[in-house]
Amino acid sequence: MTRDPRHDILFTPMQIGPKIAKNRFYQVPHCNGGGYRDPSAVVEMRRTKAEGGWGVIFTEQTEIHPSSEITPFIEQHLWDDRDLPALAAMAEAMKSHGALAGIQLAYSGINGPNLYSREVPLAVTGGPILTFTSDPVQARTMDREDIRNLRRWFRNAFRRSQQAGFDLICLYGAHGFGILQHFLSRATNQRTDEYGGNLTNRSRFLREIVEDARETTNGELALTLRMSLHEAGPNGFSNTELRDFIAMHADLPDLWDLAHGTWEACSGTSRFTAEATQEDLVTGIKQLTSKPVVGVGRFTSPDAMVRQIRSGILDFIGAARPSIADPFLPLKVQEGRYEDIRECIGCNICVSGDMTHGISRCTQNTAFMEEWRKGWHPERSRPKGHSTSVLVVGAGPAGLEAALQAAKRGYKVILAEATTTLGGRVAQERHLPGLSAWGRVADFRTGQIAPLSNVEIYRDSRLTPDDILAIGADHVAIATGSTWRRDAVARLHLHPIPTDPAMPVYTPDDLMQGRIPAGQAVVLYDDDHFYMGSVLAELLTRHDNRVHFVTPAAKVAEWTDNTLEQGTIMRRLLQLGVEIHLSQAPEAIGPKDVALGCIWTGRQRALPTDAVVLVTSRSPNDQLYHSTKALDWPTAGIKSVKLIGDSAAPGPIAWATYAGRNWAEALDQPDTGDALTFRREIAALESGASLLP
Ligand code: ADP
Ligand code: SF4
Repeated sequence: MTRDPRHDILFTPMQIGPKIAKNRFYQVPHCNGGGYRDPSAVVEMRRTKAEGGWGVIFTEQTEIHPSSEITPFIEQHLWDDRDLPALAAMAEAMKSHGALAGIQLAYSGINGPNLYSREVPLAVTGGPILTFTSDPVQARTMDREDIRNLRRWFRNAFRRSQQAGFDLICLYGAHGFGILQHFLSRATNQRTDEYGGNLTNRSRFLREIVEDARETTNGELALTLRMSLHEAGPNGFSNTELRDFIAMHADLPDLWDLAHGTWEACSGTSRFTAEATQEDLVTGIKQLTSKPVVGVGRFTSPDAMVRQIRSGILDFIGAARPSIADPFLPLKVQEGRYEDIRECIGCNICVSGDMTHGISRCTQNTAFMEEWRKGWHPERSRPKGHSTSVLVVGAGPAGLEAALQAAKRGYKVILAEATTTLGGRVAQERHLPGLSAWGRVADFRTGQIAPLSNVEIYRDSRLTPDDILAIGADHVAIATGSTWRRDAVARLHLHPIPTDPAMPVYTPDDLMQGRIPAGQAVVLYDDDHFYMGSVLAELLTRHDNRVHFVTPAAKVAEWTDNTLEQGTIMRRLLQLGVEIHLSQAPEAIGPKDVALGCIWTGRQRALPTDAVVLVTSRSPNDQLYHSTKALDWPTAGIKSVKLIGDSAAPGPIAWATYAGRNWAEALDQPDTGDALTFRREIAALESGASLLP
């Protein structure tokens, strides 16, 4: 395998101020749900990126002072010297293979509700805190003394960043989150003093802290500015103003880092945005400055990366999600191992980990955030134990990952699939509107399994319990998936609702298998709240149906707030002419209508319809498991039979790939009883006298 010489340019070093990056792969700051709570988990996650060849690696958002923090979100803190050890460990891990280590410093201003520190929030111009959750908190407008204090807090953070061993400091002014953007934007800066008004005044604070940073670090660290590419709205910091700003301050930072005005716009899912989607907003900016420029665009194709550089749009290829899905992306391009690239599918499950304050996971990279907790590696596997063979039944995301990981460990693997196609649910969902990139879940795994001589794949093989016993592998994983329910049972209705057999009722499985009503009035009932309801509404409109989207929730697809898609989904449904009925649910399905009830008042009305689509919940396909367990499998030489993925508990695809990996990792591991299955860090108790009077 050799690298295509056209990709050589990605491996030319480049100067960033006083530092030199070894290549053009730039891991922009990204959250991970672990932050200050799980320091070692984050450190080891960043270390895999260093090992994978990234030229520049950044921390997530690091809050510089308790007067501005974004609890409940879990990022990094640099509040005093006690935060230094965790950040120093992070810098050391990032630099372990020659990457530059960067820290992103943030002061959130109008975006920080201070739910933990209880300090009064300080903003460029005071007003209600602008978070996702409409916290009932207002910020106070900073006076000159506050601004002097803020400069000092930034200087403290610069000094500590250098002490921790970072090479680069990124000042955060994008996504609506950083105070630099709040100063620049006329929407959030309504000041009448020397920090407000014209662009020169609105950029004053930025110039001041860049100067402070250079002075505090003796010019030894590189300084990057993460700027908002475009803020919508009449007073937003527009792309035109950004260009004016950069023209005025061409050489102010050592690098311009360009990201979108909101996080939703910046981290669009593949359902709604393509690779390199920010190109129009970025093109031409490089010509305004002599400093290098980095931008993002869910880049996974080396050809697309090279084109960005050759055509003078970018100098560095910025990546958050592609670096999560494949921390070894640079090394694989470098070595010409293109078919090994684990491409991001653009599902934003990683983002949901931050939004739900859990710990992030990735649909594609099952090791993400488990590097330290469980000792999983994105590329390497632990050697196999004493058993020899395994049987995996079902080739969906769970079965494919289980088979791949077991094979990498060295087991002899038999993978049996009932249909002729590998991929399970993904083989079907990839054909739904906007979800084609999800097919990468199957394509990557089947591509990795294909050359392995220790895997035998049997397609068109629906196994019975007797077949499983006859095969007699040492360990069996049953990954037979799930089936959408036809009786409206989910969160609101815990029991089936009365349904007249004269009304045609469809499930997502029916629609995915091509049984789709056409030219009819259709009631789509969504009590699932993730992507499927809105995707099927779109599919139904393509077949000329008049769609009524009914949900007991107060907004459509409410869980997609966590994948940053909810607003876009609502817009899409309205554009498609879908009629939306919020806070309502069918109480009964009649022959020609549904009895629609208001979930608050119970008031009912009849909604005439030709058909009903139920996007509610799924039943696990666990019959094969239970029937096999009922037989005498130990006598057949089988040591374990396990149920994994959707057939154990239906969930998102990322849950299934995780389950597959978890099963393969556990093979032949010693029984540790009730011990925790992952490592964690818990807060150390502080010694010292009570502060009580
Ligand atoms: P998951 O998300 O847990 O991987 P999927 O529904 O995507 O679940 O995949 C389950 C797969 O298992 C499907 O491809 C299905 O055809 C296959 N399958 C179901 N029952 C059997 C069986 N008895 N033998 C072999 N394959 C099966
Ligand atoms: Fe990409 Fe999805 Fe993984 Fe995030 S979770 S990195 S969007 S594949």
